[in-house]
Amino acid sequence: MTAPARWWHPEGDAVRCELCPHGCRIARGRRGACGVRENREGQLVSLVARTTSGLAVDPIEKKPLYHFLPGSKVLSLGTVGCTLRCRFCQNWTISQAGTIDGLSSVGPQELVTLALAEGCPSVAFTYNEPAVFAEWALEAAEACHAGGLAAVAVSAGFFQPEAALQFFGAMDAANIDLKAFSDGFYRRLCGASLAPVLETLEIIRHRTRCWLEVTTLLIPGENDTDVEIRNLCRWVVRALGPDVPVHFSAFHPDHRMRSVPATPRRTVARARTIGLEQGLRFVYSGNVADLEGSTTRCPHCQTTLVTRDGFRVNESRWSDPGVCPGCGGLVAGRWV
Ligand code: SF4
Repeated sequence: MTAPARWWHPEGDAVRCELCPHGCRIARGRRGACGVRENREGQLVSLVARTTSGLAVDPIEKKPLYHFLPGSKVLSLGTVGCTLRCRFCQNWTISQAGTIDGLSSVGPQELVTLALAEGCPSVAFTYNEPAVFAEWALEAAEACHAGGLAAVAVSAGFFQPEAALQFFGAMDAANIDLKAFSDGFYRRLCGASLAPVLETLEIIRHRTRCWLEVTTLLIPGENDTDVEIRNLCRWVVRALGPDVPVHFSAFHPDHRMRSVPATPRRTVARARTIGLEQGLRFVYSGNVADLEGSTTRCPHCQTTLVTRDGFRVNESRWSDPGVCPGCGGLVAGRWV
């Protein structure tokens, strides 16, 4: 379960971790803020190598990825720990577990065999932040590629740049949580900061071949003003391009924010409208029933291409995937 970590250097008896922007200086016998990287005799080790806190087969739409192998199943794996401390975390029992007890062992080849047996063309590193098990995810991704499978990451994107480049450079698709468009939000509610996340998004989009989608969980009174949503969408269009799908999803009271009400449907609809007005070509609704907000349309002629009901693909109207049957225009994504 332990394996040598990457992205660190020694500092006397301590080590300095270079994986995420916290840059923890870790004394001998101690762990970093994520709780799963430890200084053992002057060497940084990962405590969660070849482990899992849970394996499940999900629809790829649940990640959410709408423009990557739509309608397919994905074998999903998580461990424990996180680099963030989001007060609204919906997976806090594993992200803030505070212990590595209870993890099960699983090897890379076992993952591939299981994915193939379940008819999954991809494996996702998800449920908790994959940065904290980046070495293991990279090893598993390599095995996936050798076995003809794709590798997917669902992440907060809170990496140092070199680690981001190496990690996402090995992934075929990623959904990055852009939790808000305000540094204050990140500091107050997540124990993190905004700028490194934006830098990771730009690295993925411009320096890797990884397919990118973005998700923002809208929390009433925290990140849901028109101005903030508009600024976020403008930034995505300018920095990442209009073809990056953005998912606005509804918050449900959880963890340390149980007194905040769930996000109304109209807030998600408003965010979608703002995103489209700002020039985004694909803006989706999440965690609310919204057929139009979960439909993929051709950005050139508005022909309906993929319809979904919840996480299920109802209909896929391609004759040639990625090419609109209405106007022949290209539609961004990895469709097969
Ligand atoms: S990955 Fe963990 S140990 Fe490394 S800097 Fe981030 S919180 Fe600290």
